[in-house]
Amino acid sequence: MELIGAVERIVGAEHVQREVQLSDQSGLSGAASLLAHPESAEQVRELVALAYAQDVPILPVGGRTGLSGGAVPHGEQSVLAVALDRLNRVRSFEPLLWRMEVEAGATTATVHRLARENGLLFPPDPGASEQSQIGGNLATNAGGPHAFKYGVISRWVTGVEAVIAPGELVRFGGPVRKDAAGYDLRGLLIGSEGTLGIITAAWLRFVPAPAMTVPLTATYDSISAGVEAIEAALACGVVPATIEYLQGSCIRHAPPPFPVDAAVDFIVICEAESEVERETLAEALGPTAVARDPRELWRWRDGVSLGVRAVLGEKLSEDITVPLDRLAEAIEGTLEIGARHGLEATSWGHAGDGNLHSTFLYDPASADQRDRVKAAEHDLFELARSLGGSISGEHGLGLLKSGQLRGQWSEAAISVHETVKRALDPKGLLNPGKKRPR
Ligand SMILES: Cc1cc2nc3c(=O)[nH]c(=O)nc-3n(C[C@H](O)[C@H](O)[C@H](O)COP(=O)(O)OP(=O)(O)OC[C@H]3O[C@@H](n4cnc5c(N)ncnc54)[C@H](O)[C@@H]3O)c2cc1C
Repeated sequence: MELIGAVERIVGAEHVQREVQLSDQSGLSGAASLLAHPESAEQVRELVALAYAQDVPILPVGGRTGLSGGAVPHGEQSVLAVALDRLNRVRSFEPLLWRMEVEAGATTATVHRLARENGLLFPPDPGASEQSQIGGNLATNAGGPHAFKYGVISRWVTGVEAVIAPGELVRFGGPVRKDAAGYDLRGLLIGSEGTLGIITAAWLRFVPAPAMTVPLTATYDSISAGVEAIEAALACGVVPATIEYLQGSCIRHAPPPFPVDAAVDFIVICEAESEVERETLAEALGPTAVARDPRELWRWRDGVSLGVRAVLGEKLSEDITVPLDRLAEAIEGTLEIGARHGLEATSWGHAGDGNLHSTFLYDPASADQRDRVKAAEHDLFELARSLGGSISGEHGLGLLKSGQLRGQWSEAAISVHETVKRALDPKGLLNPGKKRPR
């Protein structure tokens, strides 16, 4: 059967685009022969069954805010891209039971808004929430500033509905808060970057919103002083909702909405959820600690990545993690790598989680700078491994970091990773080229 005609019959010809160039926020792009926009889980199932029967690679596409090229077609072969944007209904929302069943294409901001309007909190808060989708958030196991206190999205998902090969609609978990019956296949799908199935819906859980949220900022003139303050915040006896940091030139390229002295090299942001926490954290952060308006502060913080990118036209921003006691070495190491390769380097990130967005600025039109960025990235991954960390805490392997697990995981662990992939996708058609361990 001809692929295009069959896809058009499933979703309607007006919901199919041909020869589409797809990109995400990684700077990578690639061509998909077909981009289909199904409106139901059943249509997703039919698409996967069709593509699997015809040996056509399948690419799930969310909000395309990913930073590792996960939603970008790979290679020259024909690809059926499946966009989840029309599958965006809230199937049920029961605020008094703190739960929601929502389809994969709903934006993260929609879930946040509904939670807020009902006095609830949905803590996962990746930065591009107006555009990113719940399905994409699950597929990358997204975090964000509040993951320090509340954990990454996996903790807020009690069930996943997905289409798996060769075209089956399955549910792992559901509206239950505990489920120890089988293997945690819900958890396996979360963070799988579209390589094990297409997520069509999820059951989410919420908590009552805290009575107050007050972010505090504090400024320091060196990395060592800033990291000392982070350690003081960790040791002060309260659990801050966030512990974020910004270091070096990002402070000048994306200036904060409050005055910052020229000598400032390091900013720490800690969020308090009660008066007692506010006082305790202010004491731990020292005399420069000031309470800020949360909306204004987080709007600025969400824009830092784009502000830094605008300086030279492109940037490589990685998401390495290190054990907390190695944070200062990782921040200094980022600057050393930049200097070694003649690139401006800076970093910011989720300090409490030891998660750094180590960043190198470059001009995308310069082949020489692109080569130097590649070399800097290699050294950065070596740094993360040598400090006992991971090459990705948030963005996943995608295309950019595919093949890089070797060196971080043992051969035996990599072999388990490959066995899982083969078991769920024996033909290797689900998002090929992505999340490969080697
Ligand atoms: C300014 C900015 C700030 C960011 N801040 C954060 C942050 O703080 N924390 C964080 O974790 N991330 C952050 N990100 C990265 C990004 O927003 C997240 O990775 C997000 O979860 C991706 O969601 P998406 O819908 O855009 O997915 P996409 O980019 O469309 O896809 C990402 C991956 O998921 C797969 N996928 C998408 N939808 C599905 C589905 N329904 N089923 C199966 N697979 C699917 C794709 O194939 C791809 O491999 C940021 C990005 C930007 C641009």
